[in-house]
Parts: sequence; C-alpha cells; structure tokens
Amino acid sequence: MVPPLPPPAPSVDLSAEQAFDRLMVRVMVPLFAVGTLVIALLWWMEVSEGRLSVVNRYAYPAMGVVYASCVAVLWRWPRCVGAVRWVGFLAVAVSQLGELAIELLQVGPLIGNYDAITLLTWLPLIHALAFILLDSRAAVWSACIILLLVAAGFAWRLTSPLGQGKDVALLLNVLASHAVFIVCLTGWLQMKRLLSRQHGVAQQLRVLAATDSLTGLANRRQAVVVLGGLVRPPPRVPPPVALLCDIDHFKHVNDRLGHEAGDQVLAEVAEALLRATRSSDLVARWGGEEFLIVLPGTPLPEAIELAERLRQRVAAATAQGAALALGGATLSVGIAAHRADESVTDWLRRTDAALYRAKNAGRDRCEAA
Ligand code: GH3
Ligand code: MG
Ligand code: MG
Repeated sequence: MVPPLPPPAPSVDLSAEQAFDRLMVRVMVPLFAVGTLVIALLWWMEVSEGRLSVVNRYAYPAMGVVYASCVAVLWRWPRCVGAVRWVGFLAVAVSQLGELAIELLQVGPLIGNYDAITLLTWLPLIHALAFILLDSRAAVWSACIILLLVAAGFAWRLTSPLGQGKDVALLLNVLASHAVFIVCLTGWLQMKRLLSRQHGVAQQLRVLAATDSLTGLANRRQAVVVLGGLVRPPPRVPPPVALLCDIDHFKHVNDRLGHEAGDQVLAEVAEALLRATRSSDLVARWGGEEFLIVLPGTPLPEAIELAERLRQRVAAATAQGAALALGGATLSVGIAAHRADESVTDWLRRTDAALYRAKNAGRDRCEAA
C-alpha cells in the first residue's frame, strides 16, 4: 500500500520549540550581560560608599560570575539554553531567598530591617522569572515551593524569641498576595494548555475536512474552495487550466482483482499524479476514480503536454503496481482553460465534456475543450 501523502491543508509547525529556544538565546545574552554590568556597578558603588553588607560582599561577585558564565555559555554553546535558563533562575531565587533567610534570623522587627517592599517585589519577580525561563509547570511548582519556604521561615521566626508583632502582619500579607499570584498563574497555565489543545484539534479537523482519506489528496470540498479562489476577478493571465482525469474501465479492475486492489490502484494513481505536478498545482480526488488537477499560471499548450505526460506516468506506474496482472491502468483526460467571467460550474462542465469525448474516442487519451 502506498504510504499516505502529506495533507494539503495547513501543517503544524514542529519547529516552534526550537524557534523559541533561539529567541531565548537572543533575549538572554543581552539580559545576562546587562545583569552582570548592573551587579558590578552596585558592588562598586556600595564598596566605594563603605556600606556593603557581609552577605553582599560575597553574594554580588558570585551573582556576577554566574551571569557572566551564562553569557559565555550561551555565546559558545547556544544549545545549552535549557541549562542556562535553570541556572539564571536559581541564581536569582537562591540569592533572594538566602537574603530573606538571613534577615529572618536577625533580631528586630522585619519591617524596616528587611523591608516589606523588597519582599513583596522580589518574590513575584522570581515567580515571573520562573515563567519566562522555565516551562510553565516547573514555574508553578517553584512558586509553591518558594511560598512554602517563606511561610516556614516566618513560622519559625514567629515561634522563636526573635518574633515581633509586626511580623505577623507582614507574614499574612506575603502569604495572601502570593497565594493569589500562584492561583492566577496556575489558571493562566490551564487556559494556555486548553487553548493549545483546542488549536491542535481544530488544526486536525481542518486537515481531515480537506483531505481524501484513501489517497491523501485534497478532497472535492477543498477543490471547490480552491477553484472558487481561482475564478475570482481580476482574470488571471494565463487563465488556470483544469484537467479531469478518469481511470479507464475501473469497474473491470475491481471485478478482476477485487476492491482492495482497486483501492491500491487509486492510491498509486494519486501518487503518480502528485509526483508529476508542481506543489502550486491542485491535485484532488474529485469522485470515485476521477481526479481533478488545476494548473494556475500554465498556458494551455503546456497544460496539454503535461496531461499527456501524466497519462504516460500513470500507465507506467500502475503497470508495476497492484494492477500488474491487467498490464496497468490507463487514464482519459479532459482539459479546459478557464474563460473570463465563466463560473466554476460552466468551466467544469466543459472539462467534463472534453473527458467524455476522450472516452468516446477510445479512452487512454487526452482531449482539450
Ligand atoms: P470508464 O472507462 O467509462 O470510466 O469505465 P469505468 O468502469 O471506470 O467507469 P464507471 O464510472 O462506470 O465505474 C467506476 C467504478 O469505480 C465503479 C466503482 O465501483 C469504482 N469505485 C469508485 N470509488 C471506488 C473506491 O474508492 N475504491 C474502489 N476500489 N473502487 C471504486
Ligand atoms: Mg468515472
Ligand atoms: Mg472510469
């Protein structure tokens, strides 16, 4: 059996993920480079003002090294984009959570020490970064884990002698705002999944609705759509040409070899027609053993030559296929160029009349209208 031919309707873009990775490399290299410079600048400013905390004395250079390494890796090995995304995310998450942990361990109220603004801006930023750098599912997981860590840190502080009354308000604020944030992100993720699944199903349905299941060619419905587009004004020069091809004595093929072999002959003819035409031509299964080919931008004399070539190719291909015992199958072809202002129905009626003449003249031949 001839393998199914590629469907004519819109195909799924399988390289979308690779394209996204390439985009990430393009975005991340300048982002990490700017990050490295900003950290170097902050470090220099704080050192020169003599107010660099013990933590930042080590954290800033460490972050700088991580970011600069990310730039170098992406530059040299752009394929490592997945690993770099994780490293970039972890660098921010670990440094910020580390800073919060150290603040929680200190004596004194948290507000004014590690201020609420810092806490409320950094955590959503980490979650957002996770959504950009990691995949959506990992981002939701990381958001939940971070929230649990923060809650555990606060819980420990509140139960320890260090705890202050104001810490409770801050804890509630953080927990509530981040829970809402995570719920929104999860909802968005579910919606995105649902939409992409629906998009995939719609794409499949479009392909199925336009394809003939036996031959993989465009079906009659799809052919009518294409023909409608071709006859719309302004008139084309040269006008499109229709070839209506009908397998000769096909009933005989079925009767002698069986319906299954008949199906196989249909698939072989479809493949031969598809191979002998250009990708810009329409090759459709018009009916049982009838095929419609439409050639846009082909002058009539060239179309007649092509029809003759198609007839010979089909005879040669089927002579070695399922119809071997019958010496192959032959085609009769009717040819008609579209006339200005002519409807699709009239155009096809003239093509069919030409096919009828080819049949009457003895079959296995081409006739132009
Ligand atoms: P002619 O040379 O005049 O075209 O003779 P014919 O026998 O090809 O013409 P006719 O239109 O009378 O018969 C077409 C046959 O094609 C009848 C039908 O059983 C067969 N056929 C139509 N669709 C299929 C199909 O999907 N599979 C198979 N195996 N046979 C089919
Ligand atoms: Mg027929
Ligand atoms: Mg026939």
